[in-house]
Amino acid sequence: ETDLHELGYLLPARPGMAEAEVQTPCLIVDLDAFDRNLIRMRDFCRSIGIALRPHAKTHKCPEIARHQIGHGAVGICCQKLSEAEHFARAGIPDILLSNEIRDPVKIDRLARLPGLGTRITCCIDDIDNVAELSAAVTRHGTTLDCLVEIDCGAGRCGVTTPAEAVAIARAIAVAPGLSFRGIQAYQGSLQHIYDYASRAAQAERSIAIARETVAALAAAGLECATVTGAGTGSFPFEAASGVYTELQCGSYIFMDADYGKVLDAAGDRLDAGGFENALFLLTSVMSHAKPGKAVCDAGLKAQSVDSGLPVVFGRSDVTYTACSDEHGEIADPDDALKINDRLRLVPGHCDPTCNLHDWFVGIRDGRVATLWRITARGPGL
Ligand code: PLP
Ligand code: MN
Repeated sequence: ETDLHELGYLLPARPGMAEAEVQTPCLIVDLDAFDRNLIRMRDFCRSIGIALRPHAKTHKCPEIARHQIGHGAVGICCQKLSEAEHFARAGIPDILLSNEIRDPVKIDRLARLPGLGTRITCCIDDIDNVAELSAAVTRHGTTLDCLVEIDCGAGRCGVTTPAEAVAIARAIAVAPGLSFRGIQAYQGSLQHIYDYASRAAQAERSIAIARETVAALAAAGLECATVTGAGTGSFPFEAASGVYTELQCGSYIFMDADYGKVLDAAGDRLDAGGFENALFLLTSVMSHAKPGKAVCDAGLKAQSVDSGLPVVFGRSDVTYTACSDEHGEIADPDDALKINDRLRLVPGHCDPTCNLHDWFVGIRDGRVATLWRITARGPGL
């Protein structure tokens, strides 16, 4: 009989073992780098006097959310209702669902969530949603805080005129069980622009849209207590704007190969840059049947390659060149790699990579210090 809690069945590692003994493919977190990222963002937000509400879609892990709150975060963001449910059940006290909820079953689930003792805020970009949410919270005897989501340039969700924002905000303000708190203005498509000047120009455009909307709301007697948005690629701009009250960065905690390029391209101008790679996909060499090429056990199903292939961390002699479902090809011109060698890969894109895994294995001083479960993973029903 198999004990599924033995190493290699359900568990990738045990506390105390060496990194090289961790079963692969497996996500590992360099806990010292992770701590430094937490401190850097905390200190940046303190120095500006802006709130931090990190996006938990990056990690989907309540342990990590608790570390962020321990380092000054006012709460977290979730993108999916299912994520918010996991984090609320885990006791996270303040959650912004940075999205629209329209399906009737999901609206009912959303309206129950504050009953767990968590403050819940959600986004609205259609006036019809106001009555739907108000009816649901009235049914469950709960309350929701609401933000109007504006489209500040990404062309995704959000209203496109200040007049629409004012109309929705007015409806929220008088709807039973709902409170108007402000706006969400997140511009996702500017985060990964490598060129600093283009990214800065885009950010200024999106900040101008947010500023115009806040002014229109104020003129209508609707104060925005919260103006929330920003990601790892743009937050210094929003933080300096005087308009935003809250930052939603997610990837800063781990970084990834694509954000590495954004920060490299920005040089030292990104004043809160300098975040370190704290997340790695640990992989093992399983074949070296041909000279010049090793094959490892981390392919497409262990990582997301939508933003490019992973980078082999700390090695300039070997390169990850291609992947198929369960294989990764490593160019190894000097035939330096041996069977069972471990490599740390920096994933191309951290968020969807974490979503594929059950565990983060925390490493300190070369040894496993802790295992954190990625409880809110999955596509999110
Ligand atoms: N806020 C919202 C609404 C998002 O969709 C995202 C990511 O796409 C973020 C914040 C965090 O961005 P990042 O992980 O790039 O810091
Ligand atoms: Mn992302």
